[in-house]
Amino acid sequence: MSLDALIGQPLAVELARKWLAQKTNHPLLMVGPEGVGKRTLALELAKTLNCKTNDPDCASCHKIAAGLHPDIRVVDMAWQALIRDEEVEKQQNLRIETILAERHRLFQSPLEGTRKVLIVDDAHRLTPDAANAFLKVLEEPPADAAIFLLTPFRERLLPTIISRCRPIRFRALADEEMRLWQKRAGIEEIDLWLARGSPGRALHLVREETLNAIRQADALWESLPARSAVDIVGNVENRGKGARVTRPEIEEKIKTLKVPAARALRAGDPRAMNALPALEGALQKLRHNVQPGLVYEDLLITLAKDA
Ligand SMILES: [Zn+2]
Repeated sequence: MSLDALIGQPLAVELARKWLAQKTNHPLLMVGPEGVGKRTLALELAKTLNCKTNDPDCASCHKIAAGLHPDIRVVDMAWQALIRDEEVEKQQNLRIETILAERHRLFQSPLEGTRKVLIVDDAHRLTPDAANAFLKVLEEPPADAAIFLLTPFRERLLPTIISRCRPIRFRALADEEMRLWQKRAGIEEIDLWLARGSPGRALHLVREETLNAIRQADALWESLPARSAVDIVGNVENRGKGARVTRPEIEEKIKTLKVPAARALRAGDPRAMNALPALEGALQKLRHNVQPGLVYEDLLITLAKDA
């Protein structure tokens, strides 16, 4: 990935390039909706600043992409939870201690790279204390440091913070750009309306959907031992009550059932021994064009019998 690969933000990319070309360390304030590429751009800049070979495949670029480069730090709620050894849910604000530790780090020599980078995501969550502790270093960052603040809510930042940064605006993606992103990311069937021009939000929706499907599969798996064949055949979920269930839908259901089955197998549940081959067999039947409703019904009866 390079700066060019960022979809739908030509203006932001242009400003980022100018910033790079000027070899300045003026802090950047990246403002725009959730999940449209702010963090991606910040990390790409971090890579460029530290890449010695101009090769996006070099060790330094790889480390940054994997979040393993010691000189590049993304500070957000998750990071703060990690260093404080607390739950993420407990983090309300970015605290002064978190910022003081980063300020200290920015004045040390880089450990591996040439430029230390600090990316503060959700910068609107800085407490007033933390923001004030930040001001001096934003005013005059060390020459070998780069600071990027990211937020969807510019108006929640202290004016003194805003005035010390150069702004880069991001926007929501148009439907065409979302489709392009979707194609590159290999993700189908996203509701573009729900995603509202945000690849990050689309990914979140996909994850949510997957989690829901897994929850349903878990519940089904748990219920099977108590169910008779008659009960299964008569049940709504097999036949979709009137509306015919499509092959891809059934295929998804069967694949998702592998999650509880595999978990049961790891836990040494004897019931899972036969379940996984039965699931594979059902997928094969689907590929051989057996009627999907029947395949699923047979499978559930088999799984219930073995339970
Ligand atoms: Zn590189």
